[in-house]
Amino acid sequence: MGKTKSGSLSLERFTFDESWEEKKKRAEKIVEILMETHPREKLLIGDPYRTLVHCIISQRMRDEVTYRVWEELFEKYRDIETIANIPVEEMQRFLRENGVGLWKTKGEWIVKASQIILEEHDGKVPDDIRELMKLPGIGRKCANIVLAYGFGRQAIPVDTHVNRISKRLGLAPPRVPPEKVEEYLAELIPYEKWIYVNHAMVDHGKSICNPIRPKCDSCPLRELCPYTKGLVTDADLKGRR
Ligand code: SF4
Repeated sequence: MGKTKSGSLSLERFTFDESWEEKKKRAEKIVEILMETHPREKLLIGDPYRTLVHCIISQRMRDEVTYRVWEELFEKYRDIETIANIPVEEMQRFLRENGVGLWKTKGEWIVKASQIILEEHDGKVPDDIRELMKLPGIGRKCANIVLAYGFGRQAIPVDTHVNRISKRLGLAPPRVPPEKVEEYLAELIPYEKWIYVNHAMVDHGKSICNPIRPKCDSCPLRELCPYTKGLVTDADLKGRR
């Protein structure tokens, strides 16, 4: 080992030897295969505000439930002006009655974020990650989701699937937090492909690289994956950060 990338990204934290150049080449091949295996339109919702509300509802929720509630919410309340002007309690009641966990917090976030966007940003969701992260309920993952899926910008939202798969594939060290995983991926993956990473890895994580017992035998990334060679193990991934 020993070679350290300039900046705050280091090769020392990986569990196996590979130069940056080798890692970069492997990352490019991985993304190409993922894009072929899980083809999908860019999945642009194309509406930053609705994407933002979707992301708040989705936290710790199953996709199907999130989607249903999100559709019903906009069926009932239509736009940002309406939502910013209803009492927080009404939004909380709506979420609770529709089976949304953390309804109290999420109801407050949705109404307050809408008020801030109206009052401080002329009703337009900001397209800047720092401004997005100032909104209630919007952490780095949601901010990147709004940028990628709402605005169609090149961004890499790191959710639980992206985090796990990147580490199994040795594209990020096993014991770094999601923000750091994002930095490694941004360094290793060509800029014009960033927008595909999230949806391709989410699909891959749901169908093949499952959290428990990944289907490595039928995985098209098998030859490129250090996890199958025992170079990254579940024990590494579970270790202290
Ligand atoms: S080979 Fe296994 S661990 Fe590696 S990406 Fe595929 S399913 Fe995941």
